[in-house]
Amino acid sequence: MREFADSTRRFSQACTSSAMIYLMHVCAIQVIAGAPNKYLFEKVKSERALSTLAFSEKGSRSHFWAPVSRAQQNGKGIQINANKSFVTSAGRADYYVLSSGAIGGKSATDSTLYLVKGGTSGVETLGEWKGLGLRGNSSAAMTFACTLDESSRLTEEGGGFKAMLDIALPWFQIGSAAVSIGIAEAALANTLKHTTSARLEHMGGSLAEIVPEIRARLARMQLAVDSSRAFLDQTLTKIEAQAPDAMLGVLGAKAVASENAVRVTDEAMRACGGAAFGSQLSVERHFRDARAASVMAPTTEILYDFIGRAVAGLPLF
Ligand SMILES: Cc1cc2nc3c(=O)[nH]c(=O)nc-3n(C[C@H](O)[C@H](O)[C@H](O)COP(=O)(O)OP(=O)(O)OC[C@H]3O[C@@H](n4cnc5c(N)ncnc54)[C@H](O)[C@@H]3O)c2cc1C
Repeated sequence: MREFADSTRRFSQACTSSAMIYLMHVCAIQVIAGAPNKYLFEKVKSERALSTLAFSEKGSRSHFWAPVSRAQQNGKGIQINANKSFVTSAGRADYYVLSSGAIGGKSATDSTLYLVKGGTSGVETLGEWKGLGLRGNSSAAMTFACTLDESSRLTEEGGGFKAMLDIALPWFQIGSAAVSIGIAEAALANTLKHTTSARLEHMGGSLAEIVPEIRARLARMQLAVDSSRAFLDQTLTKIEAQAPDAMLGVLGAKAVASENAVRVTDEAMRACGGAAFGSQLSVERHFRDARAASVMAPTTEILYDFIGRAVAGLPLF
C-alpha cells in the first residue's frame, strides 16, 4: 500500500486524471483479487485489463454504500438495472466492478458486487465527460441494464457492503490522499518556480524576494503539504503495524490531504496572480483538479461525520 501511495502521488504530480484512473483500477483489482471466484482475477490479470469502480448511484448519490438499484434473478441469470452517477474511465474500462442491491435484499446496505465486461449489451455511457477538473479521466454517468451469469459475482449475495468497506474503501482513501498530495506538491513547485523567477524590475527582485505576503503563502503551502504527507505516512505505519486505530487514520488521510490540496492550490492561484489564469504555469489545472477529492465519496463532510462518530464511540452506520 505504501508503494501504491507513492506511485499514485508521483503520477498525480504530472497528471491527476491519469493518477485517478490508476487509483480506481487498483481499488477494483483489490476487490477482484479478494473475490471467492479466483478465476476472475486470473482472467483480468492475464488480459492486462483496465478496471474501475461503478458504485455511486443517481438515487443514493455520494452514499455509495447504499445502492438503490436492485438485482433480480430471472430464468436467464441475474438482471441488473443500475443508474451510476459517475464512473472513472466510463466507456474506456475493460471491466467494471459494479454494486447493486442484493436479490431480495431488505436494507439499503444489502448489496452484491459483480464484474461486468465493457461492451456488454445494455452497458451504456451517458454522454461525454466535461468536468471542472480531472478532465482527462472520463468520469461520465453510466447505465447498466444487463443480464449477468453466476460467475460474474465478486461477493456472496449480500456481501457487497463488507467488500466496499473492508477492501475498496481503505485503498481508495489512501490513494485519494496520495493524489491530493501529488497535486499540492506540484502546485507548490510551480508556484515556487514562478515566484522566484518572475521579477518586479522597478524594485530589483523576484516576487518572492520583494513581497512578504507571497513568502507567507509559500510557507503555508509548504506546511500544508508537509502535514498531509506526515498524516499519510503515520497512517501507513499504523496499517503496516495493524494498529487498532488504523481505521481512524484511513478515514482522516483523505480528509486532511484533500482539504489541504484545496487550500494549497488556492494559495498558488493568489501567489501567482494573473499569470495563474493562463495554462502555462499549470496552476489553474491543479486548482481545478484539487476540488474533486473533497466531493468524491466519502466526501469530506461525510468523513468528518464518520470520524466524529468514531471519536465519540458511536457506530459509523
Ligand atoms: C471526477 C469524479 C470522479 C468520480 N469517479 C467515480 C467512480 O469511479 N466510481 C464511483 O462510484 N463514483 C465516482 N464518483 C462519484 C463520487 O464518489 C461521489 O459519489 C459524487 O461526487 C457525489 O456527488 P453528488 O452530487 O451525488 O453529492 P451529494 O450526495 O448530492 O452531496 C451533496 C453535498 O451534501 C453533502 N452530504 C451528503 N450526505 C451527507 C451527510 N450524511 N453528512 C454530511 N454531508 C453530506 C456532501 O458532502 C456534499 O457536500 C466520481 C465523482 C467525481 C466528481
